[in-house]
Order: sequence, then C-alpha cells, then structure tokens
Amino acid sequence: MALEANFCRVQLDQPGPGGVQQLLCVRRTRLGKTGQQICVGDRVRVEGIDWPEARAAIAALEPRRSLLERPAVANCSRVVVVVALAQPQLDPLQLTRFLLTAERTGVDVDVVLTKADLLSEPEQAQWRDRLKAWGYQPHLLSAHSGAGVEALREHLAQPGIAVLCGPSGVGKSSLLNALVPELALRVSAVSGRLQRGRHTTRHVELFPLAPGALLADSPGFNRPDLPADPAALAVLFPEIRERLGDGGCRFKNCLHQGDPGCVVGSSWDRHPLYLHCLAAAQQQAAREPRLRSSADAAGLKQRGHREEPVLDQRLRTQSRRRRRQSDHEEP
Ligand code: GDP
Ligand code: ZN
Repeated sequence: MALEANFCRVQLDQPGPGGVQQLLCVRRTRLGKTGQQICVGDRVRVEGIDWPEARAAIAALEPRRSLLERPAVANCSRVVVVVALAQPQLDPLQLTRFLLTAERTGVDVDVVLTKADLLSEPEQAQWRDRLKAWGYQPHLLSAHSGAGVEALREHLAQPGIAVLCGPSGVGKSSLLNALVPELALRVSAVSGRLQRGRHTTRHVELFPLAPGALLADSPGFNRPDLPADPAALAVLFPEIRERLGDGGCRFKNCLHQGDPGCVVGSSWDRHPLYLHCLAAAQQQAAREPRLRSSADAAGLKQRGHREEPVLDQRLRTQSRRRRRQSDHEEP
C-alpha cells in the first residue's frame, strides 16, 4: 500500500487474528540480493508475522503484470491522466507526454479534465470533442462544484489499482479528497492540529475507493520522459493505431512523418505533436545511445504495441538514475 522509510505497509488479502488488516513489514535481505525492488502495488508474501504488533517480513515478491515507472506503481490496471482545463491552461503537448507515459504501461488509460467550472459549456464541449478525436473519452469534472466526481468514482470503482498522474496544480489532491471517503475522515481528524484542511501528496500511496478498488495518487511532476526508442512512439498514439489497423503501413520501418503514401497521413489533430515528440525522442536517442541500448539489453519486450518490462538490475539502476536526473529538471 505504501513505502514508509524502511518499511512496507502491506494490506492482507484476509484480515488476521484480531481483525488485523495491514502489517508493517521489513524486507528480507535476500530480496535485496536478488535485486528485487518492491513498489507500491506489488503483491508480496509475508512471513514471521507478529500479530499483536502487526509486524512481519516480506519473504517474496510475486511477478508483476504491469509497471508504471513514474510514479513507480506495480500492477496498476488503469492510469488516469489528470490535467486542468484552466488555471493552468491545458497544454496539449504536456497532456500528450503524460498520455504517452500512460500508454506505455499497456493498461487502460483515462483522461480527467479538472476545473470544468472555469469554462463555459461550449468550451467544455470543444475539449471533449478534441479528446474524443485523440481516441479518449474524457471525464470533465470540478472538485469545487462536485460536477462529474460521482461519475468518475463509479467508473473507477472496479477491482484493481488505478493511478492518478498529472502535473502539479491541476487539482489532483482536491479530486482525491473528493473521491476517497477514508481520506476525508483522516484529514478531518488531523486538520485541527495541523491546520491543514486536506491531504497533500509526498509519496505514492494506495487508497481504498470501493471494495477491491484502489486508487494511487502521486506527487505531481511536469515533464514525463519519452520512450527511449523513437520507433516505439507511434503505437502509443491511438489515432495512429487506428489508422494502421491490422494492415500496418505499406512502408517498412515507416515513422509516419506524413510522407505521401504513408497510411497514417497528416490530417489529424495531434500530427504536429507526434512530429514534435518524435524529433525529441530522436534527439534524446542520439544524445544518450547507451540509454537506448541498455533499455534493449534490460529486456523491454514488445508485447502487442506495448513495451513490457522485464525486471532486471540494469533496468532498475537506469530508471532510478533517470528519475533522479529528471527530478532536478525545471518544472
Ligand atoms: P494538485 O497540485 O494537482 O494536487 O492540485 P490541488 O488539489 O492542490 O489544487 C490546486 C489549486 O487548484 C488549488 O488552489 C485548488 O483550490 C484549485 N482547484 C482544485 N480543483 C478545482 C476545481 O475543480 N475548480 C477550480 N476552480 N479550482 C480548483
Ligand atoms: Zn507510415
């Protein structure tokens, strides 16, 4: 559920003696030796349980079905990209970078557009139509007025882990507080003492949304990385996937840059954004060829149109390094 200093907070599949639901666990050193790093969302086996103290040790890590790199969440079944319609103004390129990161996990991707109260109905309709043309069914909502929040809660109330991600300031914390009843209780319990009216995110943590449904919030960050391999970019755009269909492009190794005869063409809204991201990914690959080859060597397997992570030491070292670097980026 959460990583807290040297401990992992583990939710039990079934309550233990005395109704214990969660255990504070240390990691066995041999987990460290095999190089396995535990993420929020991982399924683990525990041993050496001390029920009265609700303590235990993590003995083994189950294989992962998916991995979102940033925030690091394993086994998520849905990535919810959250951006504001206004304040800050919606930036299609930034939204696209978040969508690309989300698409790379291989799980369902949702778009939430917040602060709908700041836009007129026709303006809202314009964004809804635009996102539909991109291949998404956006949820427009307002945490302030409450409009659209219930619909999103119903949408997310299915077994699995959903992760909210998006830039800071778009209203993710406000949305989380509106969605998660437990959190509202927790916040009201401490707000008197801390004089803070709501939850603010510092770490990734899972919150129960409905039975079996967990929601992860993450600290906002503003500029997600592009895939290391420029050729892996195209299939992360639903518009390109749709145009490629089953037949694919008639040109081999086509990067779909709008050349005559390319089945993807250039008459779609995000084509300039695709070209922009492609150029950026190509520059990045030229600058950091090692990054690309180490990602290949680390066994990012292509499964369907997604990269599938095979966890090994080199990949983790690399992604930690990249994460640290990008943490120093200007927002
Ligand atoms: P976070 O950084 O993404 O967690 O965003 P916050 O939840 O902290 O909200 C950032 C700012 O946006 C705050 O000043 C909120 O009051 C404001 N805000 C959040 N949700 C809404 C909304 O639905 N409508 C409007 N108008 N403002 C909002
Ligand atoms: Zn093509």
